[in-house]
Amino acid sequence: MTDEGGDGSYEPVIGLEIHVQLRTKEKLFCPDHTGFGDAPNTNVCPVCLGLPGALPILNRDAVELAVRASLAFDCTVHQHSVWARKNYFYPDLPKGYQISQFEEPLATGGTFRVEADDVSGLDESVDIRIRRIHMEEDAGKSIHDRFESATAVDLNRTGTPLIEMVTEPDFRSPGQVRAWLTAVKQVLEYLEVSDCNMEEGSLRVDANVSLRPVGSEPLGTKTELKNMNSFSGVERALTVEIARQQDVIATGGQVAHQTLLWDERRGDVRPMRSKEESHDYRYFPDPDLPPLKVSEDLIEAVRARLPELPSARRARFREEYGLPSYDAGVLTARRPLADYYEDTARTSGEPKEASNWIMGPVLAAMNARNLEADDFPVRPAHLAELIDLVEKGTINRNVAKDVLGRMLEAATGEGAESPAVKTPADIVREEGLATVSDAGQLEAWIDDALSAHPEEVARFREGEARLKGFFMGEVMKRSRGKADPGEVARLLTERLGKA
Ligand code: ADP
Ligand code: MG
Repeated sequence: MTDEGGDGSYEPVIGLEIHVQLRTKEKLFCPDHTGFGDAPNTNVCPVCLGLPGALPILNRDAVELAVRASLAFDCTVHQHSVWARKNYFYPDLPKGYQISQFEEPLATGGTFRVEADDVSGLDESVDIRIRRIHMEEDAGKSIHDRFESATAVDLNRTGTPLIEMVTEPDFRSPGQVRAWLTAVKQVLEYLEVSDCNMEEGSLRVDANVSLRPVGSEPLGTKTELKNMNSFSGVERALTVEIARQQDVIATGGQVAHQTLLWDERRGDVRPMRSKEESHDYRYFPDPDLPPLKVSEDLIEAVRARLPELPSARRARFREEYGLPSYDAGVLTARRPLADYYEDTARTSGEPKEASNWIMGPVLAAMNARNLEADDFPVRPAHLAELIDLVEKGTINRNVAKDVLGRMLEAATGEGAESPAVKTPADIVREEGLATVSDAGQLEAWIDDALSAHPEEVARFREGEARLKGFFMGEVMKRSRGKADPGEVARLLTERLGKA
């Protein structure tokens, strides 16, 4: 694609607006519950229904979560910010306005950097400035597909606390957006600020995108994309919209300023509002609410309680446990998994082995059962014990995998009254799984294997050296995997000589 002179190409410019539902029990200005999936219109009261005379009372838990997120993204938290009414008409907005923040938001001037190593899909790091983070309440939900000729309205969501994060237009590709969002979500989860469930609407991303000739400063006319319900959806929608804008420009047209809805099924975008419509929300300070005051003490207390964030944890996993970047990335993707790893590594004293076990069979088992690490029945102490049994040579690695499987079965097995996890040592003892290095026993298996295969023995003696592996396999089979392989190899050589 080239500009009008035909001697330069265009680059995409992207900025995001991210709505995050705060993990509180109660709504932002009334004590109704915020749970997802309750019967429609059951979590409502005069305040969130906007009945005359009902007055909002601020939920301080929500403020604390918003401050926590603001600090984690390096924003300046303002001790004084202002609630504003954003006025518009919609059936799912009973008050006729949304309480938000406009001219004086809670926090401004942040930044969040993602290193290329930190998430997959990045060639180089991205550094994105965060213009502001403000607090607001959510609207209700209009349900268009429930009745044939009417729209249903569920007001349970109305008044749910949100933060809106607005970035500067610092992204240059849809891939950067996806990678950055993935890292942002990780941080929000580590902070326990939100459950970030996109399907349930607790994380929503709108993307603004324009094109400009490479090397030029001024921004082009942007469109705004809405209705994406996954990060890959955001990436696809942007890719499609960038191609559309490129076409418009290539054919001599001009990109119109408009809001577009992503249609996931069709994989395209369609206009939601005409370019003529410019919003006039008639923002003004809410007369029912005093300005939001956040004391220096609260800000510092929240800062002091910030957990170690994913990037710091990845760096520490690399240094403290000598893990490769890849392992550190996988193991820190979610906080419970990182805790699980760390417990196992410390208890076993074998950080690399712990990583191998968790990235391999343990994660596979967690995924197969759809379990988070903190609900996984095999606890770090038991996994560490298993690793220890392998290190000491009590069992070999294959038997150990089997033991892991048995621990899982014992914990989740049907019919068990109170499923108890057996320790690896219990299982090894009860089932006689310990590695056998006793020469007498090994000789017996070797005798059996060799006399069952006289032809192979003859071929080996004539020089077919690779048959050694075959004999090893036969002996291991007879031992049900328990024979000490080093010892078997030594005895086989003793018995057969070199080929
Ligand atoms: P609006 O006035 O349309 O609300 P804002 O300046 O408030 O626009 O920005 C809203 C979002 O759009 C921000 O995330 C910002 O980074 C992004 N943005 C603004 N202008 C552009 C542009 N020309 N191209 C791409 N993104 C933009
Ligand atoms: Mg704006």
